[in-house]
Amino acid sequence: MYLMVNFVQQEIENDLKEGKYSDGIHTRFPPEPNGYLHIGHAKSVCLNFGLAAHNNGLCNLRFDDTNPTKEDTEYVDSIQEDIKWLGFDWDDRKFFASDYFGKLYDYAVELIKRGLAYVDDSSADEIREMRGTLTEPGKESPCRNRSIEENLNLFERMKAGEFEDGAKVLRAKIDMASPNMNMRDPVIYRITRTHHHRTGDDWLIYPMYDFAHPLSDAIEKITHSVCTLEFEDHRPFYDWLLDSLDFDKNSRPRQIEFARLDLTNTITSKRKLRQLVEEKHVRGWDDPRMPTLSGMRRRGFTPAAIRNFCAEIGVAKSNSLVDIAMLEHCVREDLNENADRIMAVLNPLKVVLTNVDAGKVEWLTAENHPTKGGSRFVPFTREIFIERDDFMEDAPKKFFRLKPGGEVRLKHAYIIKCEEVIKDDSGNITELHCTIDPTSKSGGETAGRKIKGTVHWVSADYALKAEVRLYDYLLTTDEKGNLPEDFIGALNPDSLIVIENALVEPSVKLTGAGVHFQFLRLGYFVTDYDTTPEKLVFNRVAGLKDSWAKVKG
Ligand code: ATP
Ligand code: MG
Repeated sequence: MYLMVNFVQQEIENDLKEGKYSDGIHTRFPPEPNGYLHIGHAKSVCLNFGLAAHNNGLCNLRFDDTNPTKEDTEYVDSIQEDIKWLGFDWDDRKFFASDYFGKLYDYAVELIKRGLAYVDDSSADEIREMRGTLTEPGKESPCRNRSIEENLNLFERMKAGEFEDGAKVLRAKIDMASPNMNMRDPVIYRITRTHHHRTGDDWLIYPMYDFAHPLSDAIEKITHSVCTLEFEDHRPFYDWLLDSLDFDKNSRPRQIEFARLDLTNTITSKRKLRQLVEEKHVRGWDDPRMPTLSGMRRRGFTPAAIRNFCAEIGVAKSNSLVDIAMLEHCVREDLNENADRIMAVLNPLKVVLTNVDAGKVEWLTAENHPTKGGSRFVPFTREIFIERDDFMEDAPKKFFRLKPGGEVRLKHAYIIKCEEVIKDDSGNITELHCTIDPTSKSGGETAGRKIKGTVHWVSADYALKAEVRLYDYLLTTDEKGNLPEDFIGALNPDSLIVIENALVEPSVKLTGAGVHFQFLRLGYFVTDYDTTPEKLVFNRVAGLKDSWAKVKG
C-alpha cells in the first residue's frame, strides 16, 4: 500500500535481520493535545502509520498528555478527526500517557530504590544555575546524596500534596559533568496543582515528557519510536532510562530521529498557530489559510493530495525547507483528476445577445470532465454574464478575448461578436450588446470556425449567486519563502479577499459543503461549511497555474 523507501525502513529491516523485534513492528503517533495537527504532523502520521502498514505491524495513537496546563479535550477530539480524515486508523489502540500515571509513578519509585533518582529542594532557578554550560560542568545539588529511604519518603509526600507547587522535584541521578546537558540529572517529576482533562485532580505531581515518553513507548511495546531531530540529544536519556529499568535490549523501543517538515510560507509551530487563533488574526483553527489539517480540509485540500505530498518529500536525516508549491502541486494533481468542471463568473459583466429571443432558454450539453466524461445541461439565454477581464475596449493586438467588433467563443455554446459597448454617465461599461452566430455551436454548420479565444459565462436568468473567498499566504515572506521573525508584523492584509456577488451555473444548486469543482479558467474551488440552502459559499483551493510542475520540467 505504501512505498516506504526511507532510512527508517532500512533501520527496521536491519533490526529484523538481527533477530530483534520478532513479535512484529509497532510504531506510534504521539501528539500532545495542546493544539490542532498541522502539515508537519501529517508527515509524522504518514510515516508512523505508513511504516506499520508496510511491515504488517501496528501503529498506536497516543496522546502525550503530561502537561495539563495547556491541554484540552477539544484538541483530543480534533486530532482524532484529522488522523481519520487523512486516512489512517488506530483501531482500538488509542492511549493516553495519563493512563500510565500510576505505572510511571511506580517506575520513578523503582529508580529511587536503585539509587538512580533523588528529591531535590532546589528552586527552578537554582537548578538552572547549577546545570553549568556547554563548556563548564554542572554542580551537584546539596540534596543529591540523600538516602534512598529519605527520597522514598519525600517523593511519597510530594504525591500526597505536602509541599507547595515547585517546592521539590524528582531528578534522575546521572552525571552533572556529562557533555550532554540532558544527562545532567534531568528533572523527571514536578509538583503542580493543575486540573488534568482526564485524571482530574487525582495527581499533584506530573512526570516530565522525557521521562513519560520512553516509558509509555516501553509499556505499549513500541519497537520503533520515530521522532524529529531535535530529540537526538535526548536519546541518551531515553536509553539510560530503559537500561536502568532493565528493559530487554532486543525488544525494547528504539528511538530514531528524522527531519521535521518545514515549508516555505508556512508556520509549523503550534505555539504560533495558537497565537494566531487566540489573537483572532484568523477565524479559528480551521481557517482555510491555516496550515492545520482542519484548515486545509476546509480550504479543499484532499487527504490523497496530502498523503502524496508526504510520500513525495521523503524522509531525511537533516532538516531542509520544502517549497509549498510542491504541496499545491499535489493538490492540483488530485483535483485535476477528480473535480468536475463548471462555469462561474467572479467579476460579472452583462452581455445582451440581441439576436436571441427574450424568454427563450436553450439547454446546452456540457461535459463535466475532460477524461472522465459525464455531462450536464447549461441554460443559455438572451442575457448572460462574462468575466469583466475578458473584455477590453482598447485591446492590444495579442488580446484574444472580447473587444469591440471582435469575436470570441462562449464555452459549450456559440461564437459571439461584440457589436456595441454600453456605458453609464461616468463612462463605466455597464453592458455589451453582442450577436451570436446561430450555427456555431457544437454540431452546427459553422462550429469549426477558427476563433482564438474561448471564455466562460453564465446565464443571467439562471445563475446562482455565490460568495467566493480567495486566499493568499497568511504571511508575507522574502522571495525564498522564509518566515520573518516578527510573524504577526508580517501578516498579509490581503490573505483573504471576499467576493460577495459571484455567479455560478445552476447545476451546483444542491451541493453541500466539501464538494470540489474546477471553475473553468479560474482555478479549483470547494463549497465551504458556511454554505446553506439559501447561500453558496466557495473557497478557492488553488489557482490553475502550477509553478511546481514547471520547476520539475
Ligand atoms: P510542541 O511544540 O508542542 O512540542 P510538536 O510540534 O512537537 O509541538 P507534538 O504534538 O509533540 O507537537 O507532535 C506529535 C508528533 O508530530 C511528534 O512525534 C513530532 O515529532 C511530530 N511533528 C511535529 N511537528 C513536525 C514537523 N514539522 N515535521 C514532522 N513531524 C513533526
Ligand atoms: Mg512535541
